[in-house]
Amino acid sequence: MNPITAPDTIAAIATGSVLAAIGVVRVSGPDTLAILDRVFRPQQGAPMSRRPDRKLVLGRLFDAEGAVLDVCLATVSRGPNSYTGEDTAELQCHGSPTVLRQALLSLFAAGARQAKAGEFTRRAFLNGRLDLTQAEAVIDLIDAETPRIAQNAAAQLDGAITRRTDTVYDGLTAICSHYHAVLDYPDEDIEPFALAQYRAVLAESAAELSRLLDTFRRGSLMKNGVACVLLGRPNAGKSSLLNALLGYDRAIVTELPGTTRDTIEEKAVVGGVLLRLTDTAGLRATDDPVERLGVERAQDAAHAASLALVLLDGSEPLGPEDDAVLSAAQSAEHVLILRTKADLPPAAWTRADAIPVSSRTGEGLAALEAAVAALYPPDEAVPAGQTLTNPRQADAVARALDYLRAAMDAMDEGVFPDAVLTEIEGALTALGELTGRVVREDITNGIFARFCVGK
Ligand code: GDP
Repeated sequence: MNPITAPDTIAAIATGSVLAAIGVVRVSGPDTLAILDRVFRPQQGAPMSRRPDRKLVLGRLFDAEGAVLDVCLATVSRGPNSYTGEDTAELQCHGSPTVLRQALLSLFAAGARQAKAGEFTRRAFLNGRLDLTQAEAVIDLIDAETPRIAQNAAAQLDGAITRRTDTVYDGLTAICSHYHAVLDYPDEDIEPFALAQYRAVLAESAAELSRLLDTFRRGSLMKNGVACVLLGRPNAGKSSLLNALLGYDRAIVTELPGTTRDTIEEKAVVGGVLLRLTDTAGLRATDDPVERLGVERAQDAAHAASLALVLLDGSEPLGPEDDAVLSAAQSAEHVLILRTKADLPPAAWTRADAIPVSSRTGEGLAALEAAVAALYPPDEAVPAGQTLTNPRQADAVARALDYLRAAMDAMDEGVFPDAVLTEIEGALTALGELTGRVVREDITNGIFARFCVGK
């Protein structure tokens, strides 16, 4: 959308496309109230355009021919105190996809048009209701796969990143303003500009950005999931454990060794940690070329994994294949050893480091969850919302940090202040891109394209 031309009025279904009790259709733009009055009539009293904001009103929703589509609730929020900053309305209909689609068509007939993906939030951004880190937090909150990610995103929606980087931004702006004031108004009685007096501000700003950037490694692990491979000889119980962790039958489980020839990837939340689980073909010397391919993939997966779960069949004696599995696992960053089939009579071997589990009865799964949670603990020192999870944001912070380090180096080398100032202005631009103070059309387009329609 071009912010210079007057915006039109947009509408979209905001809720999912499955059957539900309630579904929400939202409208935003200058003609919202007039359009709503054309399609919705309250059971009693004045039309919505003459009613106060944020009150739910029961009424009838009509199609373009005047037939009743639904008996539902409507509410309005006039700009600028609304999500988008424009006049907005929401219809809370019965959640049939058909009813919602009809409601939308009725709004189109009354003058609205279909909103594009992310267009509501884009308008909120253009109207200064949200900055870019908050807009991205909206996506993260909708996509959150664990409570920890949701909590971090909610705090970022509340402005956690912005508050932190704004302090840095304001400090750097003060340096530039002072410099330009002295330069542009030499006759005024302004305190002379001595760059050295700002050395501490630059150092503290760099330290602050560096602390923020340090959270990104953990943040991307938290958001994208920990690569975790299930390793074990054929029939050790890998597919069964995968299914137990996922809570449904994803992998094919059979009693024939070597069934899982391909690798399977699934996400599961284990001990509050998002795991990207890869089930592998059993690691075993084999003459079957198809199966051999699977074994190679298993070794590759172990190499790429952060966590290897090694499954040793607790109902069978240990053999050389288990040793091969244990040694392949060593290339992962962390290894947890599981003694599977704990519900069966145990074979005569012991290993103090093995966690007994049974995919059949669920025994030991809580201990496995606790062990995974202990390997990837949340950083208690970093409050919710202060963990960077977004590569675009991390890149902007890293660039700002590079500029600040260059500014300090230049200062230490004793170059002219304007060269130092150029670096500081580079840092300001990078921080501006982080929050959207500096609007770059390509960046904003990329961000809002990731939204779903209706948000
Ligand atoms: P994979 O080859 O390592 O993937 O092993 P599977 O998960 O396919 O399991 C091999 C066999 O062991 C199947 O017959 C499973 O039903 C059985 N099995 C797996 N886990 C358990 C368990 O916890 N208890 C019992 N009793 N049998 C299990």
